Amino acid sequence: LFDSVPQAPRDPILGLNEQFNTDPRPHKVNLGVGVYYDAQGRMPLLPVVAQVEQDLADQSAARGYLPIDGIHNYNLGAQQLLLGSTSSPLTEQRAVTVQSLGGTGALKLGADFLQSLCPNATVAISNPSWENHRALFEKAGFTVVEYPYYDANTRGLDFEAMCSFLEQLPDQSIVVLHACCHNPTGIDPTAEQWQVLAELLVAKQHIPFMDIAYQGFGTGLAEDAAAVRLLAEQGIPMLVSSSFSKSFALYGERVGALTVITTDAAQSPRVLSQLKRLARTNYSNPPTHGAKIVSTVFGQPERFQQWTQELQHMRERIQSMRQQLVVKLKEHGVVQNMDFILQQKGMFSYSGLSQEQVHTLRDEDAIYILDTGRICVAALNAHNIDTVAAAIARVLR
Ligand code: PMP
Repeated sequence: LFDSVPQAPRDPILGLNEQFNTDPRPHKVNLGVGVYYDAQGRMPLLPVVAQVEQDLADQSAARGYLPIDGIHNYNLGAQQLLLGSTSSPLTEQRAVTVQSLGGTGALKLGADFLQSLCPNATVAISNPSWENHRALFEKAGFTVVEYPYYDANTRGLDFEAMCSFLEQLPDQSIVVLHACCHNPTGIDPTAEQWQVLAELLVAKQHIPFMDIAYQGFGTGLAEDAAAVRLLAEQGIPMLVSSSFSKSFALYGERVGALTVITTDAAQSPRVLSQLKRLARTNYSNPPTHGAKIVSTVFGQPERFQQWTQELQHMRERIQSMRQQLVVKLKEHGVVQNMDFILQQKGMFSYSGLSQEQVHTLRDEDAIYILDTGRICVAALNAHNIDTVAAAIARVLR
């Protein structure tokens, strides 16, 4: 049976991590990761998470199954974080949320749901995008195309090309949009550009599928959800995948949520019933531990306040690393204008380094960066930033 099974390609990021782990050079730096590291270069356990975990351990509750759609208060909290408490989808019962296995699980559940409704729709993702978007939507049965996004010349967004591509797509296409902190480029549309996009999506009856995996890492929790809130007010069908993997540093606990915005409250229970059916036949019900932590934080004002502060601390540390990187690159003799690093949002920076330069950094300096030039700014710290800046300056010469 298995003789004919071909070897699947290695995941590029996990492959790079494996290479990093086996590299014996003691000064090695891994900027290829997609996680937040603290000032000591460690993945943090947020104090608020540790405290809530302690409370939960003290309660020593039995480990029953969760409902198919997860913890009710978790889903309500996820909706509010996304939409605010006064948005029309919430007040009009047009938002349906189910707990998911991380942001990936939300994307997959949403993709499978859409596949049952409009199997022939085209799915458009950004060029470039998170490397799993294409594979995930193709596995769900869709044809996936890429809309122009990054402009290597301006190191910014090619908004005109993006819009004209979306205009030319067949009506009612599914458009995957990074709500904030675009992965991998760090470049987001401006508020004015989101307004133009909203009008375009409405006119073309496209279905936005917004992916929000870094809420709180850009400007702030509410600010980072502004694009979601804007589109949610358009009265169009829409899906949103939320991930709390980064914002709670609960990567392995698989904390995410899928929110579907319907156009009429009467649709909502039917949509929920179908999402539950998909979940039931896929993984039956979601895991308990992470969602209990997150819903406890959502439900207790002091804990919530503490979490927003800890999130703010992570956001500000990344911003300070961006500033220091730009200063240090200049100090090490880089003459090119690197200020674009300051404009980018979230954990990542598209550095503009070529594949050749990336390989030189890996071979000669033990600095690991993705072949695309994506740097995880959240992996920089006071101990490694000088070495990194000096090495980048050298390969840019
Ligand atoms: N979407 C984007 C844009 C991401 O960067 C990631 C994680 N790197 C995800 C979704 C998936 O998140 P999770 O780990 O919660 O599945």
